[in-house]
Amino acid sequence: MSTFENQFVAVLYKPYLKFNSVIQFHLVFRMGVRLILLASIVGLTLSATTQGPESNCPRADACRSDECFPPECSCSGAEPVLEDREDRPQIVYLTYDDAFSAYAEENFYRSLFNGTFKNPDGCDIRATHFLTAQYTDYTLVNKYWKKGHEMASHSITHRSSTDYWKALNVTGWRNEIEGLRKMISQFAAIPKEEITGFRAPFLQLGGDEMFTALQQDGFKYDCSWASRDYGYLKLDVGLFPYTLDYETVQDCPVEPCPTCSYPGLWVQPMLDLEDRWIGADPTHPNNGMPCSMLDACIIMDDVPTKDTVKEMLMTNFLRNRNGTRAPMGLYMHAGWFYGEYSWHYEGYKDFLQEITENYDDVWIVPVNAGLDYFQNHNNLTNTEILALGDDSPFSCSKFSQPPYSNSRCDALTPCRYENVDNSDIHNQERYMHICGRTSTNTAQKCPPTYPWLGDPCGGNEPCL
Ligand SMILES: [Zn+2]
Repeated sequence: MSTFENQFVAVLYKPYLKFNSVIQFHLVFRMGVRLILLASIVGLTLSATTQGPESNCPRADACRSDECFPPECSCSGAEPVLEDREDRPQIVYLTYDDAFSAYAEENFYRSLFNGTFKNPDGCDIRATHFLTAQYTDYTLVNKYWKKGHEMASHSITHRSSTDYWKALNVTGWRNEIEGLRKMISQFAAIPKEEITGFRAPFLQLGGDEMFTALQQDGFKYDCSWASRDYGYLKLDVGLFPYTLDYETVQDCPVEPCPTCSYPGLWVQPMLDLEDRWIGADPTHPNNGMPCSMLDACIIMDDVPTKDTVKEMLMTNFLRNRNGTRAPMGLYMHAGWFYGEYSWHYEGYKDFLQEITENYDDVWIVPVNAGLDYFQNHNNLTNTEILALGDDSPFSCSKFSQPPYSNSRCDALTPCRYENVDNSDIHNQERYMHICGRTSTNTAQKCPPTYPWLGDPCGGNEPCL
């Protein structure tokens, strides 16, 4: 048997061997190539029962730090090479999930990202937007992407049943994840390769099916995976981003988590924060409760105010700062700012003001820029990053160059769909604000049908 065939059998039998003995493995070797065929059928059947029908993927082994290091690979649990933690930049992510709406832009994003808050190099702070299809204004998506914000996928439908996401197969995940990427590329004139990140609705992971879909469509990272063991009261030992080449050390609070190996696919862990529901957990009477998204943080006080919000964020920020400085995130939906909750917004802004004014090593950048640092520049101290100027991983100078500078949106008069009727929307009116050009600079008109799952371009051709 050739080496290739040996490897083939070994890969197929990894799950099988876990349930059986090594003796059978030797049998396969002795009985020759014909048995391989039979063995693969048995192997596939076993995989099918343990992993679902569409992801017969190779199991991940314990990480080998001698073989796994950036830029291609990174072991989970590994710390960056800079031993002195005070030399490390402290990376903070701001992310917003679901529709990028004109309302959120006008009332909230505009004053956050108009240059009021700056990074240590003088560039404006920037965010990542995990987008869904309904109510997203693609002309604004284009505008913010050109300012250096990251646009990422958060599914087309965002269906409200977590059971739907838990049970989704690889094809279903691809239609949701890649489908939304196509929409961004088609309607917001953003090249597909610029859209590299994903977050699952409700942070409901889809195990190997979901990660297989991400890998098949060439996504770079997932940012859906919460961690309490490396967050909350232990945010000081926060987990750094890592690749799924090997087994992870990360806890799995929202099952199913992946068990297979996905070379080069990064996980940006969502480290839980501590909220202000002090005493709710009897084992930590002086502390609040864990929350992965700000929306889920309970902010209790006699009269909660913007100062309570700021205090909550500062507690977490300082815990992270005085620890390993793994990237932390303020992950939320814009709805957290709406209506009677304007004090959320005021406290959030006060927090941003405090950390951008008083620390020259705090960087508020999109997730893809944080990953770029850990992948390609993690030997750089904060001082060295600053010295690099325009060449630093956090620099904003590239946003005045292609592909940003040559992306033309040419906003259309809003497309109107009088009576949308599909698997999720029933006889309702919808408007779409889209660019009159796709990411390949092809002129386009309003799509004939409202774009949705299975038809992300709504009939427009070519569909990117
Ligand atoms: Zn969402």
